[in-house]
Parts: sequence; C-alpha cells; structure tokens
Amino acid sequence: MRLLMWLILAALVYFAVKKNLRARSNKMRSEQTASNDWADASSTYSANRKESEAMLSCAHCQVYFPASEVVVRHQKNFCCIEHADQASGSSSS
Ligand SMILES: [Zn+2]
Repeated sequence: MRLLMWLILAALVYFAVKKNLRARSNKMRSEQTASNDWADASSTYSANRKESEAMLSCAHCQVYFPASEVVVRHQKNFCCIEHADQASGSSSS
C-alpha cells in the first residue's frame, strides 16, 4: 500500500516535470515560430508591395522606376520629365 502511494507520487512528480518541460519547450517553439511568422509576413508584405507596383525601365537611362512615376513621351517610358525632354530633343536634332 505504501509502495503504491510512492509510485503515484513519483508518477505525479514525473508528469508535473514533463508537463513543465513541454510547456517551456512549447513556449520557446511558439516564440521561434512567431518570429518566423513575422519574417514571413514582412517578406510577403514586401513581395506584395513589389507586385502591386509595376516597374518600368526608363528609355533614356534604363533605370527601373515605379509605374506610378512614369513620364510617357512618344510611346516611350521615362523616369522623369528631364529624360523625356533629353530623349525627344536628341532624337529630333
Ligand atoms: Zn531616366
């Protein structure tokens, strides 16, 4: 009877320690996945940003710039008005 009591006590301590260790490792794992999720979220966020904004290359300097900043001159895309003027001016003269 006394042996059974000790066995139950040992089992309780064993499970308590095991539960504690698992909780600690789970917490560490959840913290790791949380940081991974954050990195994934930030990378997909920047990827989405990249996808949402189409990039065009300037016909004058070949620099890539967001499509929202495009200057169209003679069906060509330019990064700025100066390059559009330079390209049209050089082609006409
Ligand atoms: Zn340019």
